[in-house]
Amino acid sequence: MEYNHNNIFAKILRKEIPADIVYEDEYALAFHDINPKAPVHILVIPKGDFISFFDFSMNAAPELIVGFHKAIHHVIRAYKLQNEGFRILSNHGANAGQEVPHYHIHIFGGRPLGRMLSPE
Ligand code: AMP
Repeated sequence: MEYNHNNIFAKILRKEIPADIVYEDEYALAFHDINPKAPVHILVIPKGDFISFFDFSMNAAPELIVGFHKAIHHVIRAYKLQNEGFRILSNHGANAGQEVPHYHIHIFGGRPLGRMLSPE
């Protein structure tokens, strides 16, 4: 599968469409999910053409992999989620219901987050 440069997160990265940005550095951009599922629901995306975790974890440069994870850490710390708890999640492909084909991590927090997966 080829990376599609017209996906909505690629457009957000290029600043062609707006997002409610909470953090940015040379490796990553973080912004509020437009349809939040928890009081804190932030998406973190790497600066690079990666479809999902499966693509990123194999093909991204080590410096980007480290920088991306430190950006996630920065957001978690900025929202003080580490004491009460948080969940990070990333979907790949149809079974996971991935909607946007640019790798992203969801950060959820601000309330008890329930079961890890919904029942079948
Ligand atoms: P996923 O199902 O893991 O691909 O999640 C995609 C997420 O992107 C969903 O939670 C959407 O609500 C969110 N989303 C889609 N478009 C936007 C947008 N323009 N700005 C912020 N979040 C978005």
